[in-house]
Amino acid sequence: MQTRYIFITGGVISGLGKGIVTSSIGKMLQFRGFKVTACKIDPYINFDAGTLRPTEHGEVWVTEDGGEIDQDLGHYERFLNINIPKSHNITTGQVYYEVIKRERAGKYLGQTVQPIPHVTDEIKRRLRKIAEESKADFLLVEIGGTVGDYENILFLEAARQMKLEKDAVLYVHVAYLPIPKSLGEMKTKAVQHSVRELRNFGIQPDFIVGRSSTYLDDVRRKKIALFCNVGEEDVISDPDIKNIYKLPLIFEKEKFGDKILSKFGIKPIKPQDQEWRSFIEKVENLEKHIRIGIVGKYFDIGKFQLLDSYVSVIEAVKHASWNNDRKPLIEWIDSKLFEEDVENLRILNKVDGIIVPGGFGKTGVEGKIQAIKYARENGLPFLGLCLGLQLAVIEFARNVCGLEEANSAEIMPDTPYPVIDLLPEQKEVLKKSKYGATMRLGGQVVKIKRGTLAYQLYGKDEVVERFRHRYEINPEYVETLEKNGFVFSGMTPDNRIMQIGELPEHPFFIGSQFHPEFTSRVLKPNPLFNGFIQACISIS
Ligand code: GLN
Repeated sequence: MQTRYIFITGGVISGLGKGIVTSSIGKMLQFRGFKVTACKIDPYINFDAGTLRPTEHGEVWVTEDGGEIDQDLGHYERFLNINIPKSHNITTGQVYYEVIKRERAGKYLGQTVQPIPHVTDEIKRRLRKIAEESKADFLLVEIGGTVGDYENILFLEAARQMKLEKDAVLYVHVAYLPIPKSLGEMKTKAVQHSVRELRNFGIQPDFIVGRSSTYLDDVRRKKIALFCNVGEEDVISDPDIKNIYKLPLIFEKEKFGDKILSKFGIKPIKPQDQEWRSFIEKVENLEKHIRIGIVGKYFDIGKFQLLDSYVSVIEAVKHASWNNDRKPLIEWIDSKLFEEDVENLRILNKVDGIIVPGGFGKTGVEGKIQAIKYARENGLPFLGLCLGLQLAVIEFARNVCGLEEANSAEIMPDTPYPVIDLLPEQKEVLKKSKYGATMRLGGQVVKIKRGTLAYQLYGKDEVVERFRHRYEINPEYVETLEKNGFVFSGMTPDNRIMQIGELPEHPFFIGSQFHPEFTSRVLKPNPLFNGFIQACISIS
């Protein structure tokens, strides 16, 4: 079957959950037995998301093949239970870079190189290549930002041309319908304007997904249909919901899956969604809770808190909690609180376990170390992710091994005890000032030591997990740490670098150099998160 393209655009405001809509459309197609993949277009000029600030743009997602990507790819992977390679993220930067490289190489000799057709041709080439390589029946293409942004005009133009060039294409426009408090009524005008804007670019949407706090009523549905030139049945509700994973089922109620097939000339297919459906029903009926503290530092932007910085950690906690029949209650704990006053550590009494997630730079680090010390001394379940493991090693070195000023070379370059440091070969690369090339990225094999907690959780000798870091546990200190009771239960296959650390005397204390949150899936929680939640339940 030729790959069919479904473009998803957004209107009125950003942050509408287009990624969730895209994933849910993919899920409905999977329920019908199709092979689905997804791609995200980010109109910014950065080559990838590697250098974006998490408080501004949200988490950086890491693909199995080492891409640093927009977090939407994480939603696609979690919903669709597939690995998505980095080539499925297209940015303006990548597209122009390619076109300029080609121009310099004399590939366009004699021609005036222009946004149309040269840039749009490159966009289409990339999309068709993804289709060809993935051999998917459906390729979902989410265009970032909102229609009307200057920066996504060329992507919309490419999407328009593909239909003209006889690719099998459908357009879904997700737009916001506000219900202003002062009016108490759902307003459709903004949607009408954003669809008009889209039609200015020559794109007539096939479906309009109405994002609002509640379901659309018949009056609004009719109005949107008339003004936006779509059938009433092609206006789909996308209300606020507690559990994002329920959206495919809400769409199913409106027969959205079969309506999509029908526009491609495919007959309706009964969705095989029993497993998903019973899981969602189970989650809705859970009564018991578990309280998890996330001791982080990327929370605030202006007056607002941006929890997007830790979206994969939150989702991994949900998957593991649901799998163990608990609703998670996540407490956000800003580690800077513990730096202001150690008495504040008392708030950790309220939670059943803590997670110290990844991070860069020294802000909030001492507060995180205080929290880890508290967890270690008080038998509170602890899960350290990347920086979380590094800080657990620092805390142990300082307070158990007596290496008082132990630190990471990232945080204190002149520490007398660099228990966390760059490896010699990374130092060489850094010296040549290739900053971007020093990060260890993507899926790597981790050897698991038998007889440890890690082995008990993974149940295998080798796993592949995803990494995103520059610093490592300094091999020179491994012996001292081990002599004092720290156990390294995961390492590189050549035994050179330690990747998982744990404390056997503690009810549950484990940290990994990788990010287990990137491999957690809705129906298949990551083993470290799963074990952590089980430990939290048993002490709660
Ligand atoms: N800053 C640390 C490093 O570069 C940890 C990175 C992380 O937590 N992802 O090694």
